[in-house]
Amino acid sequence: MTEQIIVVGFGPVAARFIDLLEPVLASGAAQLTVIGAEPDPAYNRVLVADVGVGRASAQAISLSDRAHLEALGADVRLTCTVLRIDRARRLIHLSDGSTCHYDRLVLATGARPVIPYLAGLNPDPLQPALPLGVTTLRDLADARTLEDVVRRRGDVVVLGGGILGLEAALAAAEEGARVTVVHHGGYPLARMIDDGGGQVLAAALRQHGVRLVSGAKAVGLELSHGERFTALRMDDGRLVSGDLLLLSCGVRPRTELAEGAGLPVATGILVDHSLQAHHDEFIWAIGDCAEVRCASCPSCASDTTPSGLIGPGWRQAEWLAGHFTGSLAGTGCAPSSSVLVPSATDTQPVVMLKARGVDAVVAGDTTADLWTAHRNGTAVALWADPQHGRYVKMVTRDGVLVGLVCVGMPRTAAELVLLFERGSELPADRSSLLRLDGADSLPSAAASDPADTVCRCAGVSRGSIEQAAVVGCSTVAEVSASTRAGTGCGGCHGDIRTIIEEHFQKVPAAQL
Ligand SMILES: Cc1cc2nc3c(=O)[nH]c(=O)nc-3n(C[C@H](O)[C@H](O)[C@H](O)COP(=O)(O)OP(=O)(O)OC[C@H]3O[C@@H](n4cnc5c(N)ncnc54)[C@H](O)[C@@H]3O)c2cc1C
Repeated sequence: MTEQIIVVGFGPVAARFIDLLEPVLASGAAQLTVIGAEPDPAYNRVLVADVGVGRASAQAISLSDRAHLEALGADVRLTCTVLRIDRARRLIHLSDGSTCHYDRLVLATGARPVIPYLAGLNPDPLQPALPLGVTTLRDLADARTLEDVVRRRGDVVVLGGGILGLEAALAAAEEGARVTVVHHGGYPLARMIDDGGGQVLAAALRQHGVRLVSGAKAVGLELSHGERFTALRMDDGRLVSGDLLLLSCGVRPRTELAEGAGLPVATGILVDHSLQAHHDEFIWAIGDCAEVRCASCPSCASDTTPSGLIGPGWRQAEWLAGHFTGSLAGTGCAPSSSVLVPSATDTQPVVMLKARGVDAVVAGDTTADLWTAHRNGTAVALWADPQHGRYVKMVTRDGVLVGLVCVGMPRTAAELVLLFERGSELPADRSSLLRLDGADSLPSAAASDPADTVCRCAGVSRGSIEQAAVVGCSTVAEVSASTRAGTGCGGCHGDIRTIIEEHFQKVPAAQL
């Protein structure tokens, strides 16, 4: 019998899930309905700032083809919102007035930007009605608003010193806009970086044309004729004026649909390790909206807040599509594990600033103090050259790297990230790592391991990329099409290129 699968939300995680479900749709074992609130089919949201500064078109970041899905018999509804789930009847109620029955319901409702409490902003988080000249940066409509101002080299005020705000600020400044970042902390990324790294990063941002207003508490907006943003007001009365206010104050999982249906919710929609909603065997959740937590396992005893990153969402989508395919078609395509086992890159995310000319990487515990840390087996090695925009902090526990901050040292950062993800001991002479970025740049000390993750978004290893090169992929685009490496944030494109080059250098010319 054909099962009705409904996917709520058509973001990048839903798109990956649907992609992998195609065999069961083609076989007729399942019928798919996907409902997306946005007017566009799924696109790579990670690259939305590139559209916002005019570096990419909406078409270039598209991830899904509506016509192709419809040809497979799928019912694709865009600009349509699911308003309510009737769990007793297994029905969903849509904003177009219709209802749909489901056998399996997959919630992929993602996250929404946090709208801060500021005088002059609508505080209703579910219906944010922002004044003219105020935007978030989450979807293509937001990107078009930003693009308008960047194109005419206007003044952009970014509220928030987190990673997404800084990336947007740097990109907009590089494309010619005048940019000011207003943020709480003494330096940007204050929640994840240490003082020294933060100061060096702040200097790099200034050098790249971004003005910083640090330690600031914004309290309200100045609006011309009560409707258009002209300036941000601080608690000390200072005004930071601009043509556009870009709110970059974090995101919050979209849980209201699940909550309204009486499903258990914490920060995200609570699901177990097979991504099934607590207490409902017909509902699953994946991506930014899902919080994986069970009552018993030790890994769930610590923080289970959704990461807000694409990589874990894509791994959930892949696992669930395999699980559905196995049970629907009996094809033996079920995932190898009966529950989703998070990868090391999911549980210990590495935060990298994606920007031209400013390199900053932070991972793990970076709070340890240089002089007092050694008391519990922890040690800190630190090197700073603020005049030249360079800073490295390595935190080890019993010699194993457990935290790092690296600014302005891209090769050292790449090496440290490898060692961090492998859980490796650092060399006794820590300074040898710094020389990777020196003029006499030593080759990497860590032998390349096929198991090393190169693309953290899609979870693709060096070995898979090497294999793609062996079978003839000679460009990043070809490797991406074959392995999915490089299809997320794109931060690994350089590494993929290097692996391809290394492969073709090794192959004798006669075999090319
Ligand atoms: C500017 C920016 C840069 C980023 N950079 C990175 C990065 O470098 N690395 C990284 O890992 N991650 C990054 N992210 C985060 C990444 O984009 C998210 O992790 C990813 O988009 C999550 O995908 P999702 O499909 O779960 O949710 P979303 O992308 O939020 O999609 C959910 C969709 O569901 C729709 N929806 C919600 N409720 C309903 C409903 N009731 N009915 C119908 N539709 C509904 C929404 O409108 C939305 O279209 C970035 C995000 C942004 C905005």
